[in-house]
Amino acid sequence: MDFDLSEQQRAFRDAVAGFAARHLAEGALARARDPGYPWDVARLMAGQGLLGITVGQADGGQGGTLMDAVLAIEAVAGVCPRSADVVQAGNFAAIRTFAEYASPGQKARYLPGLLAGKALIAVAMSEPEAGSAATELRTAATPDGEGYRITGSKVFTTHGSDATLFLVYVRFGPGVGGIGSVLVERGADGFTLGEPVPYMSGEVWRQLYFEEVRVEPDNVLLGPGGFKKQISAFNVERIGNAARALAVGRLAFEIARDHALERKQFGKPLAEFQGLQWKFADAALRLEAAQLLLYRAAVNADKGLPTGQETALAKVACNEAGFLAANEAMQAMGGTGFSEVTLVDYCMRRTRGWMIAGGPVEILKTRIAEGVFDRRFPQRGRRSEPDG
Ligand SMILES: Cc1cc2nc3c(=O)[nH]c(=O)nc-3n(C[C@H](O)[C@H](O)[C@H](O)COP(=O)(O)OP(=O)(O)OC[C@H]3O[C@@H](n4cnc5c(N)ncnc54)[C@H](O)[C@@H]3O)c2cc1C
Repeated sequence: MDFDLSEQQRAFRDAVAGFAARHLAEGALARARDPGYPWDVARLMAGQGLLGITVGQADGGQGGTLMDAVLAIEAVAGVCPRSADVVQAGNFAAIRTFAEYASPGQKARYLPGLLAGKALIAVAMSEPEAGSAATELRTAATPDGEGYRITGSKVFTTHGSDATLFLVYVRFGPGVGGIGSVLVERGADGFTLGEPVPYMSGEVWRQLYFEEVRVEPDNVLLGPGGFKKQISAFNVERIGNAARALAVGRLAFEIARDHALERKQFGKPLAEFQGLQWKFADAALRLEAAQLLLYRAAVNADKGLPTGQETALAKVACNEAGFLAANEAMQAMGGTGFSEVTLVDYCMRRTRGWMIAGGPVEILKTRIAEGVFDRRFPQRGRRSEPDG
């Protein structure tokens, strides 16, 4: 067993960190306060080969491993958290599911724009009545000649305001086996968006409405029976979510550590008070432990998809460690931490959101428990009756 990065991995991580320091450090605070997608950063990253890191070279990507993509997103998030969303969108999110299952024709149509940072694909899975219970989604794909008509609504879609393409989870028929997915372009007839709703992280989401939106057969990504495949690829999205949570929590931790060495109260630097030292010690412990789970899930996936169990362990650990570190960093910085003058408040709000996004920690803990007991724990059941 070897806990060190290889020479090649270290060189890649350092090169991305250098790029981030040169091009993204300046403006990081302003980007964090801007809900718009940073298209300029996307184009810059495309030029550096930071989009499509795990996409095969034959498809215009870099042919790298999931671990390479994790190193890249951590290096960027540690400098400019908002720019790390571009690494997520270009490597871990809907693009990864798309690259895994798209037909050659679909790839030829959409990948060049996505990998050039000129187009953006978002995942539309959650619905008003289907959040944690994702398989209860109702958005229907009804056969219409050769193709389908899509009718339904989606909520919480990240980048809904900016995406040019939507990977929409739909129902072709009843049950889990009836779920698949289609590709809907922005501006399609019958596809409209609601007003932007702000999250506390500064991002916004918009409700998506599909009213008899026509989808041609060649825009079906996965037909009925596709749900399991979609969730397998969605584990990559979770790894990106986990990596950002960890890196953004660590960024807040580092800002607070520097502050604690500088700021004096009662005639001594804050770092000399045991009450604060133990907060930093706890955060360091949680960050280090979560890092190992994250790297294990990524390394074991290599060029494929990570397992559900290793992904769940990594995501819960990184989400909790990242939020704990950012929250304690804010506390250690007092009124300065609570003000919008550093990135610490932003780190706290973003890490909080990742405990819900991409599968809330409670749902993933149920997944972990299924591994512990080696049996399925279906959550659907009869409602408990009130007493009396
Ligand atoms: C920042 C952010 C970005 C997001 N981006 C996207 C996106 O791009 N695309 C998309 O489709 N969706 C997105 N989502 C939606 C996200 O996937 C859902 O918020 C999530 O699945 C939870 O669904 P819900 O919000 O409806 O909560 P609910 O399902 O109503 O759950 C509420 C709470 O109850 C808990 N809970 C529910 N069932 C159980 C259970 N059986 N056992 C224990 N606890 C349970 C949940 O863990 C949660 O804490 C995003 C959400 C956030 C916050």
